[in-house]
Amino acid sequence: MDSPWRLELKKLLPHAKFDESLSRYTTFRIGGPADAYVEIRDAGELAALAGSAGSSGVALMFLGWGSNLLVRDGGWRGIAARLRGDFEKLEFLPDGRVAAGAGVRVPQLVAACAENGLGGDESLVGIPGTVGGALVMNAGTRDGEIGALVQEVEIFDREILAPKKLTRGELVFRYRSSNLGGRIILGCVLQLKPGNKVDIMRRVQECQQKRLQTQPIHTYNVGSIFKNPPGLFVAKLIEQAGLKGMVCGGARISPLHANFIENFSGAKASDVLELTRRIQEKIKSAFNVELELEIKVIGEP
Ligand SMILES: Cc1cc2nc3c(=O)[nH]c(=O)nc-3n(C[C@H](O)[C@H](O)[C@H](O)COP(=O)(O)OP(=O)(O)OC[C@H]3O[C@@H](n4cnc5c(N)ncnc54)[C@H](O)[C@@H]3O)c2cc1C
Repeated sequence: MDSPWRLELKKLLPHAKFDESLSRYTTFRIGGPADAYVEIRDAGELAALAGSAGSSGVALMFLGWGSNLLVRDGGWRGIAARLRGDFEKLEFLPDGRVAAGAGVRVPQLVAACAENGLGGDESLVGIPGTVGGALVMNAGTRDGEIGALVQEVEIFDREILAPKKLTRGELVFRYRSSNLGGRIILGCVLQLKPGNKVDIMRRVQECQQKRLQTQPIHTYNVGSIFKNPPGLFVAKLIEQAGLKGMVCGGARISPLHANFIENFSGAKASDVLELTRRIQEKIKSAFNVELELEIKVIGEP
């Protein structure tokens, strides 16, 4: 028999799916089921979901595009939600500012900005995630991070069940992290640089081209697995340690970019985690360097 929270969720959001595999919602195509998965399309649905999860004590987690996530094989105990619909809107404001919903895909944001003669975000074009995920991760490249462009962020306050704005001064962005983890992010306002549309589009294309040559973007992966320690490149260390191409179950270290792991044949999360463990062990013994995961690992073993 369904538990009371499941019955309530079904009533509030009839499109919710139960015992839904999260592998469908991550670019790794790996992961066990969430107790429930639901796409939230507007503020009313969000308030209903947050209120219900809060009162029943069920864990609530927001996914973006799942392009930085490894969901363990046992899945997620609780509700996994994604912001769609009203949260996928972009609005161009005066003075080179853009309001972007958390569900907007980053490549779409960069393309729309370029189309409107706004640059400063070109290097983000190949980051496949959403604006929400990019804010949590402070996603970026050597040429810039999203945090540097942020003026304000809108979150959903679970205490008062209403949206709330965080100003620039309240935000902390560091290398692949921010103080937004654990919040529900609804969107942000970014400050871009007005410029020549043709030049901006050329830079966007150059960035895309560079990625095609250096990253296995046509495979199932989640981008860089480890953070680069200060002054070092993990991919180089892994290559020097002779680990490039190493296989564990259905997962392998990418032959193209050694800081990527590819799900090349029905990999399990446990295959990926075993590979990361072996890499960390080898890099520690060979170079005395501790590698920290960049990806987020969630769920039950
Ligand atoms: C081919 C490839 C290339 C990549 N290149 C780069 C790169 O150059 N630079 C880089 O930084 N990253 C890169 N990544 C990693 C990834 O795309 C980024 O980290 C991205 O910002 C993650 O966004 P997402 O929407 O997929 O977030 P997810 O992976 O879905 O989630 C990441 C975290 O954010 C949280 N989250 C997401 N949305 C919300 C929300 N609305 N509210 C609250 N929490 C939320 C999740 O709970 C999770 O903790 C790459 C990935 C791939 C597959």
